Amino acid sequence: MTPRTKKNDRRRTCRICPRACPVDRAAGELGYCQTGAGFAAATICLHRGEEPPVSGPAGICNVFFARCNLQCLYCQNYQISRNHGPLPSSLDSPEEIVDRIEAILAEGAKAVGFVSPSHRIPRMREIIQELRRRGRNPAMMMNTNCYDLPGTIAALEGEIDLYLPDLKYRDPILAREYSGAEDYPEVAEAALREMYRQKGTELILDDDGSARSGLIVRHLVLPGAVENSKACLRFLAEELSPDLHISLMSQYHPTPAVRDHPDLGRTLREEEYGAVLEEMERLGFTRGWVQELDSPGSYLPDFNRPAVFAD
Ligand code: SF4
Repeated sequence: MTPRTKKNDRRRTCRICPRACPVDRAAGELGYCQTGAGFAAATICLHRGEEPPVSGPAGICNVFFARCNLQCLYCQNYQISRNHGPLPSSLDSPEEIVDRIEAILAEGAKAVGFVSPSHRIPRMREIIQELRRRGRNPAMMMNTNCYDLPGTIAALEGEIDLYLPDLKYRDPILAREYSGAEDYPEVAEAALREMYRQKGTELILDDDGSARSGLIVRHLVLPGAVENSKACLRFLAEELSPDLHISLMSQYHPTPAVRDHPDLGRTLREEEYGAVLEEMERLGFTRGWVQELDSPGSYLPDFNRPAVFAD
């Protein structure tokens, strides 16, 4: 019998995101995100409905990765983000992925947005490198749930032009209950500090108003969670800067999974959104975008349709 050595016992740990699952994805083992070593882009499409400098005049080429390292109960992209069950579609060939991106860039899009890439950072970097190798120079944008390791964000310096983090929680109880990540506030704080170190508060725009570089922090106001939203804004203003570009979103729409939830089963109330807007003003934010409250539903994607967004 072969003696068990330390080497034989050692299992690799996935260090791509803060969950640090004890799995070797390269060997086919699956962790929390149920994601193997491949690319698995769920959809690549043109999107015109983002913040004006993000979409630019011609729209942004968004690459939506399948599965996710957070499993928010209310996820608006649930058709592709859930970690169990079939996906509407999945692109696994890197050549095909980059070809599709190039085709959308050829239509006039000036930016590529990677949506929910936290569990696929190495694959995202390969796509960026291949686009560069082919002589393409779109603005590279990372639209992340912010459950990222600060070291990972630091390694992206010079590769990602614009960070679009979605700061979800400052309340650890809410983070545990809704996303299974009690450490989300501290993890997201460290990741945001690193993005801020790289980009500061300035948004660099092209002549046509499309963003070339910077940091825009998004926040989706959840029903029944006004204090959490206020705390997110206070952190951003007091610990980072009130000169940050903020995108405040009211578009929350209950998905089938939370239809009976006491808070998540409804849309946002006017007084809830008003209280968050008041706090935003009190904190001195003047740069960014605020959605109208009548937005619910109009921004919802449908990944079962060829045109994911009704732009
Ligand atoms: S990327 Fe996936 S497997 Fe790796 S640590 Fe995060 S959740 Fe676990």
